[in-house]
Amino acid sequence: MKIIVIGANAAGLSAASAIRRMHKDWEINVYEKDVYISYGSCGFHIMFQTM
Ligand SMILES: Cc1cc2nc3c(=O)[nH]c(=O)nc-3n(C[C@H](O)[C@H](O)[C@H](O)COP(=O)(O)OP(=O)(O)OC[C@H]3O[C@@H](n4cnc5c(N)ncnc54)[C@H](O)[C@@H]3O)c2cc1C
Repeated sequence: MKIIVIGANAAGLSAASAIRRMHKDWEINVYEKDVYISYGSCGFHIMFQTM
């Protein structure tokens, strides 16, 4: 089975990890349009406060 995940933040990487745990042999490709993956958008306000 081949899986394509679009988006590498919370939902995308959680889905990819869950599928990997259940199916060790499936091919999983994750695509992210941004430079960073798995960034914590919840912490944006802290980052901007310290700038
Ligand atoms: C300021 C702020 C504070 C927050 N605080 C909290 C909090 O305290 N507690 C909490 O539970 N939640 C909080 N959230 C919400 C939480 O961050 C989101 O619910 C969570 O990030 C959603 O994750 P997601 O993976 O579903 O979507 P997103 O984080 O939106 O990720 C989607 C990803 O898909 C990528 N993408 C989109 N289109 C494409 C494409 N065509 N091709 C490739 N990649 C693509 C995007 O670049 C992005 O990286 C906060 C959000 C913000 C902005």
